[in-house]
Amino acid sequence: MTTPTAQDPDRAFYTSRGLTPVINVSGTMTALGASIAGKPVRDATAEIMAHFVNMHQLQARASRTIAMATGAEAGCMTASASAGITLSVAACMTGVDPARAEALPKRPGEKNEVVIQLGHMCGYGAPVSQAIELAGATVCPVGQSTLVMDHQLEGALTEKTAAAVYVVSHHVVHYGQMPLEPFVRICAARGVPVIVDAASEYDLRGFLAAGADMAVYSGHKFLGGPTSGIIAGRRDLVRAAYLQNIGIGRGMKIGKESIAGAIAALEAWQTRDHAGIRAGERAALDLWHSTLTGFDGVDPKIVPDPTGNPLDRLQVEIDARRLGASAATLARVLAERNPAIVVRNHEVELGYFQLDPCNLKLGQAEQVAAALTDVFARAAQWEARPGDFDAARNGGVDGYLNWPAE
Ligand SMILES: *Cc1c(COP(=O)(O)O)cnc(C)c1O
Repeated sequence: MTTPTAQDPDRAFYTSRGLTPVINVSGTMTALGASIAGKPVRDATAEIMAHFVNMHQLQARASRTIAMATGAEAGCMTASASAGITLSVAACMTGVDPARAEALPKRPGEKNEVVIQLGHMCGYGAPVSQAIELAGATVCPVGQSTLVMDHQLEGALTEKTAAAVYVVSHHVVHYGQMPLEPFVRICAARGVPVIVDAASEYDLRGFLAAGADMAVYSGHKFLGGPTSGIIAGRRDLVRAAYLQNIGIGRGMKIGKESIAGAIAALEAWQTRDHAGIRAGERAALDLWHSTLTGFDGVDPKIVPDPTGNPLDRLQVEIDARRLGASAATLARVLAERNPAIVVRNHEVELGYFQLDPCNLKLGQAEQVAAALTDVFARAAQWEARPGDFDAARNGGVDGYLNWPAE
């Protein structure tokens, strides 16, 4: 459909490996390889591959970099943010006790309950509740899905409570949940440590500054590092999380190359031209907005990120009867092109998809605009498939069930 052009310099990379070229306008998605790393990160991962290192020393270096970037007392790195949640929960149950660490997940001890607001029990490709349970903990949901009151949290905290998990994410229910401040205040009054899942958040300091005991980030989302999880927080709890490498953390281990790359990503974050990047993102949004303005039945709107990350997206609201195709069908048609244009489609049943500009390479904003013009101008010709809506819901699993396709 699209022929190679000067704007498409990575095409050879894909074709020589038998992979479909992808333009990612969906966000930092595990299914698309998370993020693309800048040169300092790529150099750091490549360089360390040629050397043996003392891993405790390297993790201590990571700790200093994490402390610098987050304001935490200490930090360590693991395979992913999901692993970081599991190890942080384990840390709160075992403390710095190797025998107790080895006893997980089957014998977590008396203090093994983890409270979490019901509206925070989301999935990010896997259930957050399962990341907690992997440590051997028992999940204690607090409140109802759309309302959590102080007395409900207070009542859930007992002598069996090991930790409280607080999720900051577009995945959680966005009203009726307890803000972090009262959550921390109530937990602190009972001596219960608070673990914040901030996997996808730009704010590296705010959650700890607000009193959280541990905060967990993905190294491979906005930071643009290799696949990795960053645990930041109280020194005793971080040490206890790191200790889990003798037990359940073994299967979640991070390699030297990912630690080196994530350190480089945290350092680059400090000097990154955030304003320049934001301006580039804005230019892409404006281009797509004007591209889609004028199509009957299409209402493009620039919307802020729901958790307050400094990132806007273009929400493309579609009246299917006027345009001739639904948001779900158009998202599928865009994804079936070559290069595949993968939009943010997880709320497509509400009649819109979003375009996320945070992962664009040079020239791709224009390629997306051209594809939008092409696809929307022919909207009435795209036949809806019964799976268009269901695919958006079930896609996260179908890819596994159908694998390997050939
Ligand atoms: C992405 C995400 C995770 C998982 O992060 P990984 O590093 O990919 O394991 C956990 N929680 C939230 C809220 C996320 O967005």
